[in-house]
Amino acid sequence: LVTASRIVVVGAGIAGLRTAEALRSEGFDGELVMIGDEVHPPYSRPPLSKDLLAGRHSPEDIALKPVRDLGNISWRLGATVVAATLANREVLLEDASTIAYDGLVIATGVRSRRLDLPGPVAGRHALRSLTDAMTLRPLLGPDRRVVVIGAGFIGCEVAATARLLGCEVTVVAPEAVPMERPLGHALGGELRRRHEDRGVQFRLQHTINSVHGDEAVTAVELATGEVLPCDVMLEAVGSIPNVEWLRHNDISLVDGVVCDSHLEVEGHEQVVAVGDVAHFPHAMFGGVTARVEHWNVPTETARQAAATLAARLAGRPLDNEPFFMLPVFWTHQFDTRLQSFGLPGLGAGDIRVLSGSLDGGVVMGYFSQDRLVGIVGTTGPKELLPYRAQLLQA
Ligand SMILES: Cc1cc2nc3c(=O)[nH]c(=O)nc-3n(C[C@H](O)[C@H](O)[C@H](O)COP(=O)(O)OP(=O)(O)OC[C@H]3O[C@@H](n4cnc5c(N)ncnc54)[C@H](O)[C@@H]3O)c2cc1C
Repeated sequence: LVTASRIVVVGAGIAGLRTAEALRSEGFDGELVMIGDEVHPPYSRPPLSKDLLAGRHSPEDIALKPVRDLGNISWRLGATVVAATLANREVLLEDASTIAYDGLVIATGVRSRRLDLPGPVAGRHALRSLTDAMTLRPLLGPDRRVVVIGAGFIGCEVAATARLLGCEVTVVAPEAVPMERPLGHALGGELRRRHEDRGVQFRLQHTINSVHGDEAVTAVELATGEVLPCDVMLEAVGSIPNVEWLRHNDISLVDGVVCDSHLEVEGHEQVVAVGDVAHFPHAMFGGVTARVEHWNVPTETARQAAATLAARLAGRPLDNEPFFMLPVFWTHQFDTRLQSFGLPGLGAGDIRVLSGSLDGGVVMGYFSQDRLVGIVGTTGPKELLPYRAQLLQA
């Protein structure tokens, strides 16, 4: 049993929830305080750009149910943490109240990056939260003109969903192909072809200059001078880690919260980071440090972070084994389901077809110095399994 008075979890998303569960599994029997700035209890984000946006799922369908009894827990939803004093072990909330802790879990995720553009703000959307998705959903429908800025996975998923809802969709991005960084040129090109077959238009290797409209956006102007009329503009141009509340502590906040191979924040025992916001060493890739916004990262980091915190609170030494996890990601666009294992982006220079063909089902291998570091498949999961095993052995 690990007895301590209180662990505060900041961020009530999947990573915060899974860490709370894992802490109970580790035997922590003290008080848990879960603080989240959204009013909603934890929910699953992947459907926001797919089934929820398409109207096939309701907000209730995507709620995350705790997988175990969380015991003594207080939920502070709709509450923002504005600062933390790690040296004094306390967090400060927007309403000026403070909460002291024995252990702190940093689970604040990321927010959408927004473009700094002249012109009206109304009609410009981003997609990160349930509120964003519920705002966007009624705006999509037959003959609505949608311009998506950004051809990463969220931009491509929204483009596909909007098109399936009957919208006229144009994707504008500086890259040569959609999802270029994680997929590479060949598979990204194939994805473009599949989107175009379904009527999505692209303006790739283009940037935008300004937005037109008096009160709300009516068109987007590209750097070339081309004007794309639109009813809805979606900015899907990457994310920014939510770390501002941790400023003024002697910790590194370069691209997320930098932590060690136990997910502990250096110099601060009893403080751990999990999920999208955690920047940690990946034992699988020779200790390269990275922040990874993949679905399985919250659950895997939660397991390790809870073990670290429980050991610290019980005065036990930390396990010597460095944290090991295989990043897993998937995306669903029209009839294409792409599944990724590892970190394909690390092997962007050397990409090989491992099996199949691009226009059918394919498994691509991503190599760094001749070592397999990632695979991406458009096949079913069965075809990917042998390559997944190869990746784990590499
Ligand atoms: C639209 C969309 C589609 C996705 N689709 C896929 C997919 O198909 N496949 C896949 O693998 N992954 C997908 N992902 C990624 C996946 O959902 C994330 O990796 C995962 O949600 C990260 O969980 P998290 O708990 O770390 O962060 P979050 O889910 O972002 O949770 C963090 C929470 O902390 C809150 N918070 C932030 N700052 C504060 C503060 N100061 N005080 C209090 N609360 C705060 C935030 O508002 C948020 O509620 C998708 C993400 C999005 C947005």
